Amino acid sequence: MNKDLSARSILARVLEVAMYTGHAMSCLFCKIVEGSIPSTAVFQDDLVYAFADIGPKAPVHVLIVPREHIGSVKEAGKDKRALLGHLLWIAAEIAREKKLDKGYRIVVNTGEDGGQTVDHLHLHLLGGRMLTWPPG
Ligand code: 5GP
Ligand code: ZN
Repeated sequence: MNKDLSARSILARVLEVAMYTGHAMSCLFCKIVEGSIPSTAVFQDDLVYAFADIGPKAPVHVLIVPREHIGSVKEAGKDKRALLGHLLWIAAEIAREKKLDKGYRIVVNTGEDGGQTVDHLHLHLLGGRMLTWPPG
């Protein structure tokens, strides 16, 4: 292998691990994903962790987050398209499993105007009651 290339890929990996460790130390949902803050798990696979919202706004209120730290959909690059689709599909799977046959809402608050309070990309799955529109 080209020496420069392998040095560069090692450096990239070191930076990736450093960034991950930094987020894991400071980000609430990274801490929940890694288990240092307890949560009630609803679903998990190698890419995604879903857990009950601590302040439920509906009888069913689940948060679906990527295991890797992504601040919001604003920060999700083209390489994250499959992951974004996976998150949406998992939300629909959880809704099926929770028997939300009458319908539900999937919300992705983004940035300050969007009402995002935790800067780790997450989908809200809300259901189990009639939800009003438009939101506030
Ligand atoms: P956002 O306002 O960013 O769209 O949503 C953040 C959500 O995270 C809120 O619905 C809030 O209730 C939930 N939340 C905040 N802190 C915690 C926590 O420590 N544990 C759990 N399970 N949910 C949390
Ligand atoms: Zn995070």
